[in-house]
Amino acid sequence: MSAIATTPALLPTYARAEVTFVSGEGCWLTDTDGKRYLDLLGGIAVVALGHLHPAPLAAAHAQLDALWHASNLYGTEPMARLAALLADRAAARGWGGTRAFFCNSGSEAVEAALKWARKATGRPEVVALEKSFHGRTHGALAVTGQPAKRAAWEPLAPVARFARMNDVGSLAAVVNPSTAAILIEPVQGEGGIHCADAAFLAAARALADENGALLVYDEVQCGIGRTGTFFAWEESGAAPDALTLAKGLANGLPIGVLLVADAAPEGFAPGDHGSTFGGNPVACAAACAVTESIDPDLLAQVAANGARLAAGLAVLPGVAHVRGRGLMLGAELDRDAGSVAAAALAAGLLVGTAGQTVLRLTPPLTVTADELDLGLGLLREVLG
Ligand code: PMP
Repeated sequence: MSAIATTPALLPTYARAEVTFVSGEGCWLTDTDGKRYLDLLGGIAVVALGHLHPAPLAAAHAQLDALWHASNLYGTEPMARLAALLADRAAARGWGGTRAFFCNSGSEAVEAALKWARKATGRPEVVALEKSFHGRTHGALAVTGQPAKRAAWEPLAPVARFARMNDVGSLAAVVNPSTAAILIEPVQGEGGIHCADAAFLAAARALADENGALLVYDEVQCGIGRTGTFFAWEESGAAPDALTLAKGLANGLPIGVLLVADAAPEGFAPGDHGSTFGGNPVACAAACAVTESIDPDLLAQVAANGARLAAGLAVLPGVAHVRGRGLMLGAELDRDAGSVAAAALAAGLLVGTAGQTVLRLTPPLTVTADELDLGLGLLREVLG
């Protein structure tokens, strides 16, 4: 153990564990003492292909040797290539073409979505869901459906109304002709791993159309193969007007993107929005490699290993039930999840939490069945 993680030189925004990691490979991390840990958290759904995966590593290395930054006043190849790759992925799922705005994080992608929806509709209101999480910036926080996260910063813009997940009546009650956008995480992450069912997303699509509002999915955590499909909404068939991605897109390099469907109304014009670092060539080069690596074989592996992990979690002592899809799983415990995650860390296993009693597992999509079984064994010991 080392005190580097808790140095007083950092503002105390995180209650960090006393562990400092120095290297990683696949699903394994090594700390300053040389101790190895099995990583079933994946940097909270960020390290999509595993630590140091050769594809994004080679792409980022090559780009580091070519060009780091040129400004959005000019074109760069990796950004154009990534926009085209994501548009192809969208088209392959019957979603038509898309156009991209690149930024550096999930919150920024949500901010872009809020500004785009406001401009495209001229309307002030956003409907979001209770327990949702959309980010820590003012706009993204305003539409985050967890009062405890918002309270200290209110009043916040924009005007947000909240409905309950999978409760069509509660959604219908707050969508109206002032609604610019309905914003939904197809699988809520921070709020405790809650899945939107297909009928709810279809109802949201219909309500958006009836009211001239836009449907926006926040797939910052659940997108890019995490649920066993490239986009989490695919299973429902209810396509959005726009979608945000971030965490797993560049395997750990900072990136965020707003994807707007070609069929959606025009929103942004030159000068409306921007980001100095958005579309960074190194991050985009890594993201191209990640996007290309998420092929049908890997998606099938995510679905199979997700089912294996869910079944293994469900029979552990202290687990009441398991929620989620693919490799985005939450185990509802009969006890405090934070102390279980801390005990797991001491035993050499990284898992996360999503609320007081939910253990969150978001391992690299490349995790093997053996690694999952090893992790389940360690969790069984911890849970007693
Ligand atoms: N949206 C969702 C669904 C998220 O899970 C998160 C991060 N947990 C965010 C937005 C914010 O992303 P970031 O921390 O990169 O700003």
